[in-house]
Amino acid sequence: MTAEPSRSHSRVFLSVVLAMGMGLGVRLGCAPAEGPGPDAPPARARAAPPETAGVAAHQPAPRAERPWTPPTFTERQGERDEMVRVIRDGYGLRDEAVLKAMGTVPRHEFVPSAYAAQAYADHPLPTVHGQTISQPYIVAEMTRQLRLQGGEKVLEVGTGSGYQAAVLTHFTTQVYTIEIIKPLADSAAERLKRLGYRVVQVRCGDGFFGWPEAAPFDAIMVTFTVDKVPEALLAQLKPGGRMVVPVADTDATEWLTVVEKPSAGEVTSHRLFPVRFVPLLREDPSRR
Ligand code: SAH
Repeated sequence: MTAEPSRSHSRVFLSVVLAMGMGLGVRLGCAPAEGPGPDAPPARARAAPPETAGVAAHQPAPRAERPWTPPTFTERQGERDEMVRVIRDGYGLRDEAVLKAMGTVPRHEFVPSAYAAQAYADHPLPTVHGQTISQPYIVAEMTRQLRLQGGEKVLEVGTGSGYQAAVLTHFTTQVYTIEIIKPLADSAAERLKRLGYRVVQVRCGDGFFGWPEAAPFDAIMVTFTVDKVPEALLAQLKPGGRMVVPVADTDATEWLTVVEKPSAGEVTSHRLFPVRFVPLLREDPSRR
């Protein structure tokens, strides 16, 4: 399918930072996102869980029909336009809705201040605890691969800075995002709220378990590498849904992979191109 031009493969491969050195452990920093069983009332009817970070914790969950126009920003628009030009002309990504979203979300608000000058450069940037905010092209391509038409319920696993979640609000009001590192979840929630992305629901927890109370999802995006697609995420994908996820090969090559769950029949998956992402964590390193 949609292999990108090979020049973009090598650029992506070379330019994405891999944060290594995270040890494995048993202690969970955030409450795992395990929820009640299938008979539980819908998430919107219940109080937010205690570990749910700022945005979701302090305001009622938005309704799909509530009017929503993503916020707009003028600061550094020239740099955003140039970033979009690189994604469109350098990588050949022609999806106008995705390009518009990328040209609107103020990436400089999502990167640590020490890296503000590089916010629109064609590479990922560090956040905290060895984590990253993904390269602009990768954010755009992963968004494109979800093939959102508008109004879908989307789960992002690996909130990081909240940048990808903000991009997703250009397609739907139903954006759920989960982050295992509490300081990252808290600051992303605060940032998204401050910037006006009020429709994003942020939770701190182990995204390996997905977000059962909000499931099923039309689309799921995983922003760290897994060896195998977590069963809970597959289970929480609607029939007809799509997941985009970096999956490591036996030789440790990581492939951006699209998983499709048809309305009937077997789940299928296909690889797009090699990438480098941070690995799945099973505990919050900020609580060690
Ligand atoms: N989408 C982010 C970038 C994510 S980098 C952005 O737009 O900025 C991957 C993120 O996944 C990191 O912040 C990391 O802490 C988080 N992560 C790793 N393992 C996780 C897990 N099991 N559950 C939830 N988040 C996880």
